Amino acid sequence: MTNPATTDIVDHWVDGKPWTGESTRTAPVFDPALGIAQRSVRMATGEDVGVAVAAAAAALPAWADSSVATRHRFLLDFRELLNARKDELASILTAEHGKVLADAAGEIARGLEVVEFALSMPHLLKGEFSQNASTGIDVYSVREPVGVVGIVSPFNFPAMVPLWFFPIAIAAGNTVVLKPSEKDPSAANWLAALAADAGLPAGVLNVVHGDKEAVDALLTHPQVAAISFVGSTPIAEHVYRTATAHGKRVQALGGAKNHMLVLPDADLDLAADAAVNAGFGSAGERCMAVSVVLAVDSIADDLVARVAARMTGLRTGDGRRGCDMGPLITREHRDRVAGYLDTAVADRARLVVDGRDSAVDGDPNGFWLGPTLIDRVPITSAVYRDEIFGPVLSVVRVEGFEHAVEIVNASPYGNGTAIFTNDGGAARRFQRQVHVGMIGVNVPIPVPVAYHSFGGWKASLFGDAKAYGPNGFAFFTREKAITSRWLDPSHGGIDLGFPRNR
Ligand code: NAD
Repeated sequence: MTNPATTDIVDHWVDGKPWTGESTRTAPVFDPALGIAQRSVRMATGEDVGVAVAAAAAALPAWADSSVATRHRFLLDFRELLNARKDELASILTAEHGKVLADAAGEIARGLEVVEFALSMPHLLKGEFSQNASTGIDVYSVREPVGVVGIVSPFNFPAMVPLWFFPIAIAAGNTVVLKPSEKDPSAANWLAALAADAGLPAGVLNVVHGDKEAVDALLTHPQVAAISFVGSTPIAEHVYRTATAHGKRVQALGGAKNHMLVLPDADLDLAADAAVNAGFGSAGERCMAVSVVLAVDSIADDLVARVAARMTGLRTGDGRRGCDMGPLITREHRDRVAGYLDTAVADRARLVVDGRDSAVDGDPNGFWLGPTLIDRVPITSAVYRDEIFGPVLSVVRVEGFEHAVEIVNASPYGNGTAIFTNDGGAARRFQRQVHVGMIGVNVPIPVPVAYHSFGGWKASLFGDAKAYGPNGFAFFTREKAITSRWLDPSHGGIDLGFPRNR
């Protein structure tokens, strides 16, 4: 298998092989730590997407009809290959996304967990059976694939987010067209080629690259039955509205602004460690990053000092050099994030650590911004309100528990939140009162394990189904209920009444 991250141009992957498509449009793919384009990626037209969907539709009948054993065996082989070659994938992630190698390895580990969960498919796809529900009548339900599934993924987890969806979709007998982010496209091709090496028939997993044009073609294509989307809130809302208007089943996971509440009885050293790890890991480009610490006034000065002290030890630089934090994804994004530091000063917040001053162990042309800490951020400021998606940690001072819950619940987002405390009663009250989909108790990044489902509330998830876990299998299957009677002479006679159980 050719490593797609070593080619000059990233092709689509359709019907089991690289495919150039008809479009002449391309986009540059940068190495964010070097600040230069390393290769380019093809940008599909709507017609190109149609070819990929046709390949998936052609592969569907045989794959949907394949035995549970066949699909299970593929997943086993895929899991083994992915585990054996994960270092290769990690280097692709670092080269195109910029995240440090250790973080890339963590992303792959969480993706592997979903493949391992999908291996429980023989059990999860079992239907239910009621013998003699009415006299001589059995009722049973079975789960069938929904059809061709479109998956659209964001730049920040180029391997993990596709792995949240396609192993489960394929396990359930669907075929897939994946449209990854055009900013770091190679991981998707690498995964598709690996799936082919693991024996996946051509056409079951296809990859098309592109932007809005490609996405909109998927959302409106009559042969696409379901859409799994992950990205920013405005696009998630567009995807949800467009695809549901075209009769599709949709789960669209959106943006986030995650709060971490620190109560006065918390262990402040552990809370400071957690805030730094969850605020600056992956340069803050995680939908589950902590971007706001809600510090109760009485301990806020102490907590801010402890966080700032830890930040002096963080090394920002090239992810291949053993640094703690890599660059941002593009120059435009880096400049946009840095702009919030000026906003903070204008809004009379206190810039405690200014990431623009950080030393960098990397090429001067990289898209660098060091870890930044801003205290006393007013909740009216754009620094508080916007999803910044960078290494900027805000501290909002609160009077106490009720005030903090009020702030969390007033946010339009409801992805993740955490409470740090040694008071079990307060933690329990927090968990019950916040309108948020994923909650950590002394755990700053509460991404559920693969056998629980992942997803937020409010503007962080449009649609009813979360990602992976039991919700994943429910989303990628349709249920049929069968009422069955094998006739014998006792069943004769005329009765025009509505069928009743006897
Ligand atoms: P994005 O919304 O810009 O892009 C996501 C996908 O949509 C990409 O594949 C992109 O090509 C496509 N896209 C972009 N503009 C489009 C348009 N106008 N119409 C149709 N499709 C379009 O997001 P991003 O910058 O790649 O990723 C970061 C965002 O994703 C953040 O907001 C982050 O919170 C969110 N995210 C959410 C989760 C979650 O689970 N809730 C997980 C990861 C990332």
